[in-house]
Amino acid sequence: HTKEIGWNFDNSYVRLPELFYKKTEPTPVESPELVILNESLAKSLGLDVEKLQSEEGVEVMAGNEVPEGTETIAQAYGGHQFGNFTMLGDGRAVLLGEQVTSSGERFDIQLKGSGRTPFSRGGDGRATLGPMLREYIISEAMHGLGIPTNRSLSVVTTGESVRRETELPGAILTRVAASHLRIGTFEYTANWGTVEDLRRLADYALERHFPDIEDNEDRYLALYQEVVKRQAALLAKWQLVGFIHGVMNTDNMTISGETIDYGPCAFMDEYDPATVFSSIDVQGRYAYRNQPPIGQWNLARFAETLLPLLHDQQDHAVELAQETLTGFEDLYHRHWLEGMRNKLGLQTAEDQDEPLIEDLLGIMEKHRADFTNTFRALTLEKPEDTAMSGSTEFTNWYEQWQARLDRQKESKASAYQLMKQSNPSVIPRNHRVEEALEAAVEKGDYSVLEQLTDVLSNPYAYSPEQEKYTKLPEPTNRPYRTFCGT
Ligand code: AMP
Ligand code: MG
Ligand code: MG
Repeated sequence: HTKEIGWNFDNSYVRLPELFYKKTEPTPVESPELVILNESLAKSLGLDVEKLQSEEGVEVMAGNEVPEGTETIAQAYGGHQFGNFTMLGDGRAVLLGEQVTSSGERFDIQLKGSGRTPFSRGGDGRATLGPMLREYIISEAMHGLGIPTNRSLSVVTTGESVRRETELPGAILTRVAASHLRIGTFEYTANWGTVEDLRRLADYALERHFPDIEDNEDRYLALYQEVVKRQAALLAKWQLVGFIHGVMNTDNMTISGETIDYGPCAFMDEYDPATVFSSIDVQGRYAYRNQPPIGQWNLARFAETLLPLLHDQQDHAVELAQETLTGFEDLYHRHWLEGMRNKLGLQTAEDQDEPLIEDLLGIMEKHRADFTNTFRALTLEKPEDTAMSGSTEFTNWYEQWQARLDRQKESKASAYQLMKQSNPSVIPRNHRVEEALEAAVEKGDYSVLEQLTDVLSNPYAYSPEQEKYTKLPEPTNRPYRTFCGT
């Protein structure tokens, strides 16, 4: 029956040595109910929306039934958590398998919150409704923003309660990803596998994500360079929209270059480089301004795992990997500068662009200006709408910026067009996300969430219905705090 839904599994990961996973089945749940389904994603995966919504479809997303062709596993990985290396693995997730679409694309289909696995340690293997809906909203918002990310297919409630500080409704998220290979997967293998295991893993990553360089003679160096490139581009994209991941441990950084693991993440409101939302990040290790250097730190851990493979390659592979790692900074910076130029409508490059950008950010910080709304106001030619309006420094900056726009031969209209494409009008604002979760979890009303995800699916639309989502929350003296996905 499940074939009719459109499931078409081929599971390359289980063809790796058993070191890499444990066979595990999802634990059935009492009375699953579909509360949200990503119809456009379902269609792009070749799945039949109506059949997915039927009882049979829901049983799969709840882990009560596994479709033909799946070989369900929990993946093994380690990771540096807040700087300390430890064994981890999927403690509350099961990989159903890889969905292969009619165009030959391959996606991991994973159930998150599907019960205990051999890697669960003390945990119950379960997830609660609020955090799973939160991951759904934010991952889909990231996709709407054009930022590489794993996707969310659905959330089902389980009909069971989950014991946290109180009893909370249980839920399962179906997550879709280019793969779940993490830096932590390589760290695990380097620590507990043989060099041959490591080679198998690296070859697998190449085949799955970088087929163009798979046959290169120095392919392990090339693998490293490509991952560094993707992460530099990804980190710049995060910074340019004010996204704060919150828990950039090496197990939460992918080889594919997709954003993964939406726990305590949130978007910055007022521009402050020191912003931290996660309640457990007391040192601010993963603060906004630290994200690029932490990305580089994680990539250093990745390089270390590859050393045995690099040593076997051309003479200078290790030095070249070192250079690649050092070059991350410059690569990141070039992406960031290009992105900031776009945000300000600068279609040419001048030496003074960077000081101009830094000046603006400095004024924003001083006046506690909202990050998203500042660029939105500039895009809409409404400088009076920013928190900096009326100050001499901002007036001067604005004049300089306008003069800079006048110096480029491209028309002002085209500059503002570029700004519209580069500055989201809406982001998943914390109070809006909370409001949607409260309606859904407390009242079973999913309309607020659906409207929010709808608006966030096209954040560059500048449409009238987006207007109300650009409003800031009422000021409070309590900072917004997030918690690791429970
Ligand atoms: P995270 O903080 O989401 O990156 O997860 C860190 C580790 O804790 C991973 O190995 C998870 O699988 C595991 N984990 C998180 N929550 C649970 C839970 N409720 N039961 C079992 N394992 C969990
Ligand atoms: Mg994780
Ligand atoms: Mg998590």
